[in-house]
Amino acid sequence: MTISAVARGRFAVTGEPIVAVDLINTVAAPGSPAAEDLLAADRDAEAWGRIERPRVPSGDLPDIRALRRLRWALRETIEALIDGRPVSQTAVSDLNFFMQSAPVSTRLLPIATGLRAETLWHGEYGGNPRLAFIATQAAEFLSDPSQVGRLRRCANPACLMIFVAVNPRRSWCAPGVCGNRVRVARHYRRAGKA
Ligand SMILES: [Zn+2]
Repeated sequence: MTISAVARGRFAVTGEPIVAVDLINTVAAPGSPAAEDLLAADRDAEAWGRIERPRVPSGDLPDIRALRRLRWALRETIEALIDGRPVSQTAVSDLNFFMQSAPVSTRLLPIATGLRAETLWHGEYGGNPRLAFIATQAAEFLSDPSQVGRLRRCANPACLMIFVAVNPRRSWCAPGVCGNRVRVARHYRRAGKA
């Protein structure tokens, strides 16, 4: 399923290899300081949930406060890893909590040609499978140093976006936002000096 530019709206930095990176990029619009939370209201969380729906387990949308709490834990963790600082114990405890609250299991189903394996997320312990999935996917990624080494901050100093540099030459969260803005500023500086 492709997401149209209209549906993405303000969520310009999505489709990163793990949903956690998309989530931590909802603290502000790309290229701006954290003045405007993109997950301020329930309808924002619903819009973001629609964009991410193909990548997460089905089921109820998480409570927005729980979603923001997971976002905080992931941002704390990912920023610490990028900066080479120790990760806060509170953030780690939060991530472990989200994973335990909706555990996952595999179920086998007989089909005409043999067996099919299905992944089951358990919401019956009171947790939300989507939050557990985002935390679990992040845990696998963030405990692999070769993956952590690809996490970067956007090269625009005014921008809070973080991305996975699948292409090692990527410098901007979105070339059409920060790349252009910095290039235009550079152009005007040069033109002013001439
Ligand atoms: Zn940026």
